[in-house]
Amino acid sequence: MSIESLVKPHIAKLEPYQPGKPVEELERELGITGAIKLASNENPLGPSPKAVAAMRAALDGVNRYPDGGSFRLRAKLAARLGVEPGALVFGTGSDGILEFLAKTFLGPGDEAIYAWPSFAMYPIVVNGSGATSVTVPLDDGLAHDLPAMRRAIGPRTRLVFVCNPNNPTGTSVGAAAFDRFVESLPADLVLAVDEAYVEYARRPDFPDALAWAKRRPGTIVLRTFSKIYGLAGLRVGYGVGDPELVGFLERARHPFDVGLLGQIAAEAALDDLEHVERARRLNGEGMDFLVRELAALGLETWPSDANFVLARVAGAGRAANGRAVYEALLREGVIVRPMGGFGLTEHVRITVGLPEENARLVAALRKLRAEGRA
Ligand SMILES: *Cc1c(COP(=O)(O)O)cnc(C)c1O
Repeated sequence: MSIESLVKPHIAKLEPYQPGKPVEELERELGITGAIKLASNENPLGPSPKAVAAMRAALDGVNRYPDGGSFRLRAKLAARLGVEPGALVFGTGSDGILEFLAKTFLGPGDEAIYAWPSFAMYPIVVNGSGATSVTVPLDDGLAHDLPAMRRAIGPRTRLVFVCNPNNPTGTSVGAAAFDRFVESLPADLVLAVDEAYVEYARRPDFPDALAWAKRRPGTIVLRTFSKIYGLAGLRVGYGVGDPELVGFLERARHPFDVGLLGQIAAEAALDDLEHVERARRLNGEGMDFLVRELAALGLETWPSDANFVLARVAGAGRAANGRAVYEALLREGVIVRPMGGFGLTEHVRITVGLPEENARLVAALRKLRAEGRA
């Protein structure tokens, strides 16, 4: 008997997730200090001070299990969103909600549709359930091709993911295209709209997916406290949707997905609208700066409604590939995300940081450019 022979074939086929190295470890290996991380779309302002204070006050209570129903967080968020408490489900990040969706709706023989390149968790949860991933390439502007996704729906389709704004391209779809797409969907499939970056979106015609979640059964909107709320390390995400659908996801989850500190911090963060507004403003200014400066370096970028921007830094008279630029930037103490794993071999994804961090990234790229390395 070998362990391997016992492993489910669809699990054996998966590639383990490659975690990035901790910043301290990279610094040690490269012999540098003061590196900045613009790689994981985190809030550079940090968490809300109110969330930190609330957690401090709660530390002595962590011998207790968390509230399995997230009662207070649920009530506050439901009131904020104008939904009933039963329309919400909480998970260990919105990654957790993706897992519940796969567990509830997918198995061998089923299909789930998503765009590609898009969020790396979709293949992990779909393929991990034994179902088949049907990927639909982004259009020429690296945005969701919703008509093509509609055409990809077949008799085995159970679940469709729309990531808006899309990670890793930052592109978004507007209300007209989105509404047309949702109206065209058959009733017997689940639509999951991943809005991890919705709070950053600036286009005036950004779709109202929440309105669809209240109207179309089988619709769920995924949101998170990891991005603009600055609580990525706590792992709190949620889904808002049709209470019937949410009720099934509640069966698929574990009793204590969201920890005690996570619930308390998320609740306090919801009350700190000023912090959210500050993060939004800072991001808008940083985005405008980066887009302008990258253009001045002759680098192509894509319009982003999120807190990161995709840039083509290699090819045609430049470095060989995005990986080379990523590694050269590392040596300058600036960590970005190479995109080769998404088939975007000439690109890197840059998270908008603090003003001085953005300036440092631009200065590092300018230096590499002058040396013919970007
Ligand atoms: C970051 C991100 C998430 C959120 O992940 P969490 O598990 O909530 O930290 C979800 N979807 C997309 C597209 C993301 O980029």
